[in-house]
Amino acid sequence: MPEHTLLTKENNQQSGAKVLDGAVVAEAIKREAAEEVARLREEHAVRPGLAVVRVGDDAASAVYVRNKVRTSEALGIYSEHHALANTTSTSQLLELIATLNERDDIDGILVQLPLPREVDEAQVLESVSAEKDVDGFHPLNVGKLALGQFALAPCTPAGIIELLKRSGIEMSGANACVVGRSNIVGRPLAQLLLQQDATITICHSRTRDLASITREADILVAAIGRAGFIRGEHLKPGAVVVDVGMNKVTSEETARGFFGSDELDDRLWKIRERGYTLVGDVHPAEADAVAGWRTPVPGGVGLLTVAMLMRNTIEAAKQRRKI
Ligand code: NDP
Repeated sequence: MPEHTLLTKENNQQSGAKVLDGAVVAEAIKREAAEEVARLREEHAVRPGLAVVRVGDDAASAVYVRNKVRTSEALGIYSEHHALANTTSTSQLLELIATLNERDDIDGILVQLPLPREVDEAQVLESVSAEKDVDGFHPLNVGKLALGQFALAPCTPAGIIELLKRSGIEMSGANACVVGRSNIVGRPLAQLLLQQDATITICHSRTRDLASITREADILVAAIGRAGFIRGEHLKPGAVVVDVGMNKVTSEETARGFFGSDELDDRLWKIRERGYTLVGDVHPAEADAVAGWRTPVPGGVGLLTVAMLMRNTIEAAKQRRKI
């Protein structure tokens, strides 16, 4: 792993931003998780268990859930998938979660979002026992995170912290700017960066003169949901840029505006083959020209989310049994 980096473009000898490799870090976290599961099974006769609950027929959710279940099994974690019909009511969902809360073989409960509009999402998320809340969305865990206490933290932000740590990026004292204030990414990430002693700014859709703020950031995180929104003008030269966005771009013309010649052919091929290519919230070619480090999309933050879910499930199993 590299030494702690100096956050200036002048110190970055390479042309183009260096890659913060989510795949390498995610594999390392999963390897450690598999070892820990083996140890728990051998020394404590405990097999961590994860229940994933999905409601409705959202295609993207089905893919995410399949991936979570498959990864659990690969690491030796027991997992089960509850796929419920679109018509499932809030009370039916609460009933299922109450059963899962009671079961000793289930350590983590994950309710895949989004839920159908008719379901009371807040009530459902609150019904998950805080000690089995591997997504870190329960108000008790959110509150603990805000107090700087131990909590099961949301997987995507926790994965970003691991990526930065393991890539040797110094967070202490750095100016970190998070664009986006969702409960899933922006807000918890700001709390986690604060725990790492970064100086935090949170921006959102009402922020005035966004570029003047983001340009001050040594570490810039974009969690917005708009392809290529963060441009070169938003970045401090040499900055560490973490791109959380996952946007499907279906137009070849739009893709041509985002990618340099080294990547464009591959992206156009993907659009022709499967109808889209994934683009983050950061303009890739412009970020490459200005940033010091950048997470690719795909291959960056997305891979860490599942890896951290595995870690949270193991942590929940240990905490509940006081191991
Ligand atoms: P949300 O839609 O919940 O939040 C988006 C945030 O961006 C809001 O806070 C919004 O501000 C802000 N925003 C919107 N427009 C602007 C603008 N013009 N200027 C500044 N801020 C703006 O999204 P999520 O946080 O759930 O997700 C963000 C992105 O990350 C998406 O692309 C999503 O697909 C991706 N994602 C990726 C994950 C992964 O594993 N890689 C996991 C989760 C999400 P306001 O609050 O004022 O409306």
